[in-house]
Amino acid sequence: MGNPLTPDVLVDPVVLTRALVDVESVSRDEKVLADCVEDVLRKAAHLTVRRVGNTVMARTRLDRGQRVILAGHLDTVPVNGNLPSTVVDDLIYGCGTSDMKGGVALALHLAVTLPDPRYDLTYLFYEAEEIESEHNGLNLVAEAHPKWLKADFAVLLEPTYGAVEAGCQGTVGARVHTRGRRAHTARAWRGVNAIHAAGEVLRRLEDYRPRTVTIDGCTYREGLNAVRIRGGMAGNVVPDECSVEVNLRFAPDRSEKQAHEHLREVFDGYELEITDSAPGALPGLDAAPAREFLAAVGIEPAAKLGWTDVARFAALGIPALNYGPGDPALAHAPDEHVEIGKIRDGVATLYRWLAP
Ligand SMILES: [Zn+2]
Repeated sequence: MGNPLTPDVLVDPVVLTRALVDVESVSRDEKVLADCVEDVLRKAAHLTVRRVGNTVMARTRLDRGQRVILAGHLDTVPVNGNLPSTVVDDLIYGCGTSDMKGGVALALHLAVTLPDPRYDLTYLFYEAEEIESEHNGLNLVAEAHPKWLKADFAVLLEPTYGAVEAGCQGTVGARVHTRGRRAHTARAWRGVNAIHAAGEVLRRLEDYRPRTVTIDGCTYREGLNAVRIRGGMAGNVVPDECSVEVNLRFAPDRSEKQAHEHLREVFDGYELEITDSAPGALPGLDAAPAREFLAAVGIEPAAKLGWTDVARFAALGIPALNYGPGDPALAHAPDEHVEIGKIRDGVATLYRWLAP
């Protein structure tokens, strides 16, 4: 079979979206699509192309002084009776249309049609975003070829329905332990009830007033919640152990370490065990390429509430945001689709920003 990504297809990001969707690429099975993408990029004389696994990197070398990354994952969640793609009115239906082959189409179209962008550009088409992070193509590149990720700013073309979602909140999971002394309930005065002792922990959670923090125009609402509680062993035993599992979502003006300290303050006097943790990412919208990007889009950025690969770039010191044509509410759904108008708007915006 020849490469379906022909020159005729590549010039139209809408046709290209369909062609990308019709090459099935469920996580761990991206090879055929990565081969097609690599082949197309190698034919573009202005790009240097490298590959690791099923992740393809292509970049310009124009000595522009500033470099921007455009990134998208090639994989999709398992197909759900929704391939090949279909078109109904202004909508393209099919697995991966929204998350995120519409976004990949924007980057690939730009890669082959814009030989002289205003910034040097690095394109990353990576594997295995939808599964455990040990397989994630961006992670593998960061370990094996960190130089590929050198840049001043990055845009991930994940579905945002044309909105700009910047930075992301961090997260900490922890257990607050209370201890007591076991006794038979018939002689309860000999024991100390650890579940009763957890009452004060719950009261502190109830009284907690989470912060709302605005950074670079993005508003982050923190939250601290009990998510699970464990304690007790039998109907006639005063329990000697109880633990309240909590989850803190914190704005990116706190470091991971400061978030841990904050939890220790809230639960001062109790034994606190941190069980998992990931840093947030600052929106970083004051860099020149970011400011010009926002001017080209012409809308105010919003805070990203979940955790995304944007934080991987932030960990490398690269400000990053999400901007893509798909509707995030439709990602992974059997009726997943993308609006043709959003693809056209997206490509027009990227051209306004990047064309000389
Ligand atoms: Zn995605």
